[in-house]
Formats: sequence, C-alpha cells, structure tokens
Amino acid sequence: MNDRIETLILRIDPYKESDGLIQVITKEQGKLTVLAKGIMKGNSKNAHAVQPITHCSMIVDLKESISLLHTASIIEYFRPIKEDIVKLAVASMIAEIAAQVSSADQPDEFLFEITKDSLSALCRYPALLIGSLYISQILREMGISPMVDGCVVCDDSKVIGISIAEGGFTCQRCSKNTASKYYEAGFNRMFRHIVKAQLNHAGTLASQGDISLQLLSVFVDFFKEYTSIPLKSWEFLRNL
Ligand SMILES: [Zn+2]
Repeated sequence: MNDRIETLILRIDPYKESDGLIQVITKEQGKLTVLAKGIMKGNSKNAHAVQPITHCSMIVDLKESISLLHTASIIEYFRPIKEDIVKLAVASMIAEIAAQVSSADQPDEFLFEITKDSLSALCRYPALLIGSLYISQILREMGISPMVDGCVVCDDSKVIGISIAEGGFTCQRCSKNTASKYYEAGFNRMFRHIVKAQLNHAGTLASQGDISLQLLSVFVDFFKEYTSIPLKSWEFLRNL
C-alpha cells in the first residue's frame, strides 16, 4: 500500500548497515516510526529530504509498528534553524518534547500544528522566546499551566517569586514557606506574558526585550516537574 502522509521529522537513528529509523509526527496517525532503506548511503534518493527538523511529505507503506518509506520530499527545510546552533538546540528540544508527549495511533492535530508553526517561528524570532512559548503552550494544552494570577498559595496580588513545586507565583510571605526563587519584576512580568500568550504574539513579545536562558529554564523546570519527562536536549542547550 502507498499512503501519502505529511510529517515532521523529529529524529533519525542509524539502523543496520545503511538504513535509518525515522521518528515523525503526523496529523492523522500521531507518532510513527518509518524505516528508510539505504538512507545512510550517499546516493540514496531520499537522503536530502530525510533530515531531522524538516517538514516533509512522504509516501510510505503504513504498518502498525514500523512503516516503510518509499519517497520523501521536502515541504519546508527550516534553513535558518540548521544554520544557527542556538536555534538548532531549541529545535532539538521542541522535537524531543513533541516525541515525548505524542503517541502512536493517536491523531494529534494540535501537537502537529503547534510544533510546525513553532519551527517556522523559530526561523524568524529569537530562539529562547520560541522555546519558552512552545513549552508554555504544551503545558496549557496538558492543563498544567503555571498559575500567574497572583500568589498560587494565598492569592495575594503582589508577587515576588516563582515556586515550581507550588505551581506558580508566590508573594513575599508565602515564598518563605515554599521552595521559591526570587526574580526581578521585569522577569516575572515576561514570564506571565508568555504563560498567557499564543504563538502569534511572538513578534510583540520579541519587541519587549530579550528572553534569558534563565526564563526558558523556568519553563523547562515546570515541564520536567509536571510531566516527569527528562529533557536530554536541555542539557546541551543550557551549556551552549
Ligand atoms: Zn501568598
């Protein structure tokens, strides 16, 4: 059977002598593993299209465990990402998150679209902003957004810190009794904006100042705490 599918390639692992196992997400089938024969050989006709962090159209033989690739063609290569090490590191984190929160045989149009649109936005906007926005939207979709309307413990409107364990902002008093970290008002304001924002606010947010690695790390900490998913790609990104 030949099935045409629209995919985002998340990663490729070498398999046997010259084959590759491609991990993709699709709108209709959720996460899929696709076997690409001979892809590691220089003369493979699909090699140019089959690369991680690529939006790709594929004709495959859909199978329950491992589908078989016939042909692949690029829809969007995301060139600016491949040419910038920080963008590439953030894209790898996005791909790892997408792989971790998706499942096989479970169509997930939201995840496909938000991942595709975030990679497009990553080409144009600062990497740490798009990384933060991506995690924020995944957390919201999972129903585990940080609480940013006042203190998460007592509702006091004057907040000074963030507690990962409590799940949001903390006020002066409550921050003493919880594992909270203090941040400047500007940091907290930007954190709140990103928790509330949609991806299409990226342009406005980008004009409000740089996003620090520290701000992205708060989103990463929330993600790790509430999903129990370790993020290997984050270790690489934060050491850049
Ligand atoms: Zn409080």
